[in-house]
Amino acid sequence: MERRNLSASELADLAAIVGAPHVLAAKDDLQPYAHDWTEDFIHYPAAAAKPRTTEEVSRLLAFCNERRIPVTPQGGRTGLSGGALPLAGGLALSLERMNAILEIDMDNFVAVVEAGVVTQTLHEAVEEKGLYYPPDPASRGSCMIGGNVAENAGGPHAAKYGVTGRWVMGVEVVFADGGVAVTGGKTRKDVAGYDLTSLVLGSEGTLGVVTKAWLRLIPKPPHWATLVAPFPTLEDAARCVLELHRRGLVLSACEFVDKPSIDLSSKKKGVGVPFPEAEARLLLEFDGSSEAEVERDVTLAGEIALECAALDVVLATDEAKRRVLWEVRRGIAEAVHEMGVSAELDLAVPRTQLVPLVTAIRRISGAAGLKSVAFGHAADGNLHVHLWRDGKDPTARTLFGKTAAEIYAETVRLGGTVTGEHGVGITSKDVLSLYRSPAFLAAMRAIKRALDPNGILNPGKVIPAPG
Ligand SMILES: Cc1cc2nc3c(=O)[nH]c(=O)nc-3n(C[C@H](O)[C@H](O)[C@H](O)COP(=O)(O)OP(=O)(O)OC[C@H]3O[C@@H](n4cnc5c(N)ncnc54)[C@H](O)[C@@H]3O)c2cc1C
Repeated sequence: MERRNLSASELADLAAIVGAPHVLAAKDDLQPYAHDWTEDFIHYPAAAAKPRTTEEVSRLLAFCNERRIPVTPQGGRTGLSGGALPLAGGLALSLERMNAILEIDMDNFVAVVEAGVVTQTLHEAVEEKGLYYPPDPASRGSCMIGGNVAENAGGPHAAKYGVTGRWVMGVEVVFADGGVAVTGGKTRKDVAGYDLTSLVLGSEGTLGVVTKAWLRLIPKPPHWATLVAPFPTLEDAARCVLELHRRGLVLSACEFVDKPSIDLSSKKKGVGVPFPEAEARLLLEFDGSSEAEVERDVTLAGEIALECAALDVVLATDEAKRRVLWEVRRGIAEAVHEMGVSAELDLAVPRTQLVPLVTAIRRISGAAGLKSVAFGHAADGNLHVHLWRDGKDPTARTLFGKTAAEIYAETVRLGGTVTGEHGVGITSKDVLSLYRSPAFLAAMRAIKRALDPNGILNPGKVIPAPG
């Protein structure tokens, strides 16, 4: 993709909009804006701008649209599909200064926040008031609400509560020409016109820049119980996920972790795990309004796990033990990232296909001479798979690509999708047509042309070239 640099006069115009201290153009200053968490990819923008208000975002976009300057919206840059990489240079538009929690409305159960609020900051703020905002990507300590909306992010507690989109009542979005639209708000029912909230959700910065969001809250469930069950095989663990649901349990989280994942994360955290020989383990959580109900569910879950060949079941009886379990689970992505170059796939299948999926991943990666790590949100049939090979073999990337293509094809054959929650970005763009029909892709292109006719917003992402 051709790179767009910025002239001195264009930089001065940007500075006139957001203030000189909030426009960066020196290479050292731009380093953080040149990568997210996707593999080892680096793409420098020509400049980064950090607006403070919606009006500044609007003026920045109107200016860039007129000059045909590519704009890459950025939140916490924790994305795993390359969406925040400024592939074409141009402007990185960082929402980091728009980080105010504007209101926590205790009567309507709504939080109104700017796009740059870090997700965990919002969790803590609402929980202090006895409320709960369930979407919790494992990156919640650094990802931002705007990025969560743009990716329609999931997380462990999507098992019971669904992904980000279920909690977004409306957004304020700035389109490529600088026009500002508010798509919803505190009103719980609203069918006035097209559902633009849903259009913006998961649009990965290609249709507009989210500046504000209205988020639904609920009372925080007062009781919880967390259980870990180690299993001798991947298939036993995957089978147990199905059985737990078949028997009518509603799990608030149901995380699948294979042996390589737990080994990497527990070593990094310096935490020992029981039954280190287990090939897989499930982290199960229940919450509810009564202690008796939660206790009944977790007891039944333990019995079912043992029937499904679990080596044991270990209950986290206090908040400290629960925190350690979640720290090890949330630490997996970071530990895997530090392992070196690998390819990541974000697969999701109907829950009934989890067993064939885990078998296929191991078979296909093994046949290619690659190691694999698999972990994820099993209740949603969503597994994150990393392929890697020891050492620094320059041909490894080609092999990753070929092996990933086989795994994607098998996933789609099982009725699954090429990305469950991390988005298409650049990593799944080339396989999107395995899953989406030509008519679907044509509709995406038409929407993109209508809202961003000059193609300035996040060029090179999500939409594969026709043909
Ligand atoms: C350790 C780790 C664990 C993770 N766990 C999970 C998980 O459990 N579930 C999950 O779903 N994801 C997970 N992720 C992926 C990632 O955190 C999510 O996709 C998250 O939503 C990205 O938010 P961000 O603010 O970092 O966005 P960025 O990475 O900055 O951007 C992501 C995309 O959104 C666009 N964007 C960002 N802000 C805006 C905005 N205001 N307006 C318009 N577009 C915007 C960008 O252009 C880009 O396309 C994990 C990542 C890491 C590193």
